[in-house]
Amino acid sequence: MSKVEGAKTTGDDAASGDFIRTMIEEDLANDKHKGRVATRFPPEPNGYLHIGHAKSICLNFGVAKQYSGTCNLRFDDTNPTKESVEYVNSIKEDVRWLGFDWEDREYYASNYFDRLYEFAVELIAKGLAYVDSLTADQIREHRGTLTEPGKASPYRDRPVEENLDLFERMKAGEFADGTHVLRAKIDMAHPNLLMRDPTLYRIRKAHHHRTGDKWCIYPMYDFTHCLSDSIEHITHSLCTLEFENNRALYDWVLDHLNVPSRPEQTEFARLNLGYTVLSKRKLIELVDQGHVSGWDDPRMPTISGLRRRGYPPEAIRNFCDRIGIAKRDSIVDMALLEYSVREHLNVVAPRHMGVLRPLKLVIENYPDDQVEELDFINNPERPEDGTRKVPFSKVLYIEQDDFREVPFRKYFRLAPGREVRLRYAYLVTCTDFVKDEATGEILEVRCTYDPETRGGNAPDGRKVKGTIHWVSAAHALEAEVRLYDYLFKAHNPSTIAEGGHFSDHLNPESLEVLADCKLEPCLADIEPGSRFQFERLGYFCADAKESTPGKPVFNRTVTLRDTWARIEKARKAAEQSKKK
Ligand code: ATP
Ligand code: MG
Repeated sequence: MSKVEGAKTTGDDAASGDFIRTMIEEDLANDKHKGRVATRFPPEPNGYLHIGHAKSICLNFGVAKQYSGTCNLRFDDTNPTKESVEYVNSIKEDVRWLGFDWEDREYYASNYFDRLYEFAVELIAKGLAYVDSLTADQIREHRGTLTEPGKASPYRDRPVEENLDLFERMKAGEFADGTHVLRAKIDMAHPNLLMRDPTLYRIRKAHHHRTGDKWCIYPMYDFTHCLSDSIEHITHSLCTLEFENNRALYDWVLDHLNVPSRPEQTEFARLNLGYTVLSKRKLIELVDQGHVSGWDDPRMPTISGLRRRGYPPEAIRNFCDRIGIAKRDSIVDMALLEYSVREHLNVVAPRHMGVLRPLKLVIENYPDDQVEELDFINNPERPEDGTRKVPFSKVLYIEQDDFREVPFRKYFRLAPGREVRLRYAYLVTCTDFVKDEATGEILEVRCTYDPETRGGNAPDGRKVKGTIHWVSAAHALEAEVRLYDYLFKAHNPSTIAEGGHFSDHLNPESLEVLADCKLEPCLADIEPGSRFQFERLGYFCADAKESTPGKPVFNRTVTLRDTWARIEKARKAAEQSKKK
């Protein structure tokens, strides 16, 4: 199998040697954090997880495992209007499916609301926070710019007592949304804009999926995150680069409060992937506007979409290991993810035969009612997986692409007078074909078989170059097969450089439904979600959501790039040139 250039070929075990692991090893050597390693994965339950989150999950759970530490699952649920139990449940399912276990350490920032409130009171009492009564717009105007310092709010010097009283009344629900906020009193001229008296609490009279109507003030991310880390005795708080500027505030809060422990934040580059978007906001838009069938649409870069598409968790973990952890943002090629999927499935996936665009093949000299059970190797990569029986009979289906009335150069499949091998069956020679003269469509191909070639080998050693797959017509399982292409046409649909709105770059051909496929009969009993290879066509899985015994549905997980993708490309190019 071919290798993707530049890819590391490490297995499932996390690679040592990135800057985060180096830092942790130094901390351990220096007995910092008393030799403990405690990380957390902190999703906000406002959407489904995507492959970018998988990188963070693999890192946080991976280092915890590697250094005999712990990793908490913590829901950062401080924005009740955007969060829901559905999202919480999907996140837990996805993390578990990826192969990670938070044991009994399932935490919620909302569990800390009482303590966070006490911390806020402590800041006010120390003269380090105040209630501001400017509007959101006014606060923004006062903030200044990168080149100009901000202006102090007229409420900045409210006495401590008044702040304590107002904050308590904010909590008691006396004020409307947006009338007051609690702000840290830091420095309105600070070069880092986030340090210009950031908001710590706001009023939001909204029902929370866990705390119900107990609270009408909610803490902001920057205040919540560092304190949650501290409450949980996290040692290494790993997050993506966009939080680099937030680190100063993270430290300021912890440095000015009497906290239970002192975690440290370290940033790494987020995963960006070509031909897709990795932002919950954009993914929600795709779902809400009906561009996809849901969060688990097999074209989505969500964990649930990849799962439904047939991506194995091992492949996703190997991919995360391969891309490594760096300090600089870049866009990873989708081909690398697909490579990881193929690499894993090549070893584990059983082989089957399926005809996606059927063309009838009649073997003229084969006895009418005869059926032979031929032996097929389940997986050449794993001889221990044994063989199975596949029925063979007089009328078969082959791929339309495997017959040409007029073969082009280097076309080694069926054509008038040509001999090919039917996979594991017999050598057949094309004698005739039936064509709809009006449309040019080939309706049927006729051939004779050589009974001496059972299994597909000629006793006289004559060379037959082409081998094609087939399915016995009388035994075929009729099914729908869905083929997928990239969801976007642009390599980076999110950038302004590509122009327009990101959804302008959606690929209209990302889904192709083939309703009339003929598959090997044993696939009728396949477990939903299980994965296999159709020889020459790629890796597929039974759709876990829509497949039923009466109407089986299969998804193509990924092509066999080295063979079929090339063939399909040639076919599409030929079709295109015909149209012109
Ligand atoms: P999005 O940007 O997609 O809306 P988010 O950062 O708002 O995601 P969170 O739920 O806050 O989503 O993320 C949980 C954790 O996952 C955070 O620590 C975040 O840094 C990390 N994370 C999110 N996106 C990526 C990514 N593309 N690559 C690596 N880590 C990511
Ligand atoms: Mg976020």
